[in-house]
Amino acid sequence: MDFNFTPEEEALRRQARKVAVEELEPLAPEADESYEVTPQVTQILAREGLFRYIAPEEYGGHGIRVTNICIVREELARACAQADTTFAMNGLGSYPTVLAGSEEQKRRYLPPLASGEKLGSFALTEPDGGSDVAAMKTIAVRDGDSYVLNGMKRFVSQTGAAHTYTVFAKTDPSARSRGISAFVVEEGTPGFSTDRRLRVLAPHAIGEPLFEDCRIPVSNLLGKEGDGMKIALSTLDMFRTTVGAAVLGLALAAYDEAISYSQHRFAFSQPLAEFQATQFKIADMATSIDAARLLIYRAAWLKDQGQDRVILEASMAKLFATEMAQKVADDSLQIHGGMGVVKGMAIERIFREVRAARIYEGTSEIQRITISREILKRVRG
Ligand SMILES: Cc1cc2nc3c(=O)[nH]c(=O)nc-3n(C[C@H](O)[C@H](O)[C@H](O)COP(=O)(O)OP(=O)(O)OC[C@H]3O[C@@H](n4cnc5c(N)ncnc54)[C@H](O)[C@@H]3O)c2cc1C
Repeated sequence: MDFNFTPEEEALRRQARKVAVEELEPLAPEADESYEVTPQVTQILAREGLFRYIAPEEYGGHGIRVTNICIVREELARACAQADTTFAMNGLGSYPTVLAGSEEQKRRYLPPLASGEKLGSFALTEPDGGSDVAAMKTIAVRDGDSYVLNGMKRFVSQTGAAHTYTVFAKTDPSARSRGISAFVVEEGTPGFSTDRRLRVLAPHAIGEPLFEDCRIPVSNLLGKEGDGMKIALSTLDMFRTTVGAAVLGLALAAYDEAISYSQHRFAFSQPLAEFQATQFKIADMATSIDAARLLIYRAAWLKDQGQDRVILEASMAKLFATEMAQKVADDSLQIHGGMGVVKGMAIERIFREVRAARIYEGTSEIQRITISREILKRVRG
């Protein structure tokens, strides 16, 4: 058993940490309150070649390893949430093409996402289809050499900022999950609008892409008709562990703030850090952060070792890490007292930032359903 990163992984961690601390963290107070993607953040990620960790070598990447993606997400999120979102969405947006794309589709769409020249997005959720993905209503009707898309997505990160969107729509509405197909839709396609934006707790580019008789070539179908659900689930299976890594970074940021504040703030003539109530919080934070780290990097390692599906391990990592990060952020804010809720304080931003991770890419309730289903399947044989 070896709990150390390999020399290559350690080098990546150092690189990501350095750029995160020196260049991205100073941008966070503004970028993480913005509903637009900050070009400077994207440029830094591109210059450092970090997007290349989401693409295979043949298409401009460094090869896809979950451990590497986790390392990058942990360090980016610890410093600047927007940097993490932009990095992760290029991964989520391109992985369906990696999984199911034709050679031509891979050559067209993957290199610009791997270089950071273009941004990607993953459009699955709809007003009537969130946890219950198969209830989606967006349809794609074949018409000669085209598909015509109609419907609306919701909560799609990078709406308005992305250049390519992986969109899931029904080609056979009578077949529920087996009737879903995956497509690439390029920004600027007539009938495709990204004007509808949402205002959320922790601002970022997010909205409701709309399809009104949007005609795309048949060649933009990924895989075969009906493959969409499998493509979506396999993509989420791959990235779920990395959500854990991102919130691990946020938890570390909250923990750092707690340590620093508790040493400098005095009450009753001593630093807060001298009170046992504070010390117990710090002990619990450190322990739960470590426990989450072990779950996350175990799931990543198993996937990188070639284990086909890591449904159980990835769900455990995502569930535990997101719930952990919420508790750590809350405890850290409590240590800050009234200052914890003041705008401009890092912990106030982290506290808001961490919340949605218990909802996206499968809510905590859905993770528990998945975990128990996997366990009972194994028990029953
Ligand atoms: C900040 C943010 C970013 C997002 N980014 C994207 C994105 O880029 N692309 C994308 O496609 N989607 C994205 N999403 C959407 C996200 O994946 C969905 O919000 C999520 O899947 C939950 O769906 P819902 O919001 O419709 O909630 P619902 O499915 O309506 O669930 C509401 C509540 O009911 C619970 N519930 C539902 N079913 C069950 C059940 N069977 N048993 C027990 N409890 C249940 C849920 O756990 C939840 O607590 C994002 C969401 C947020 C908040």
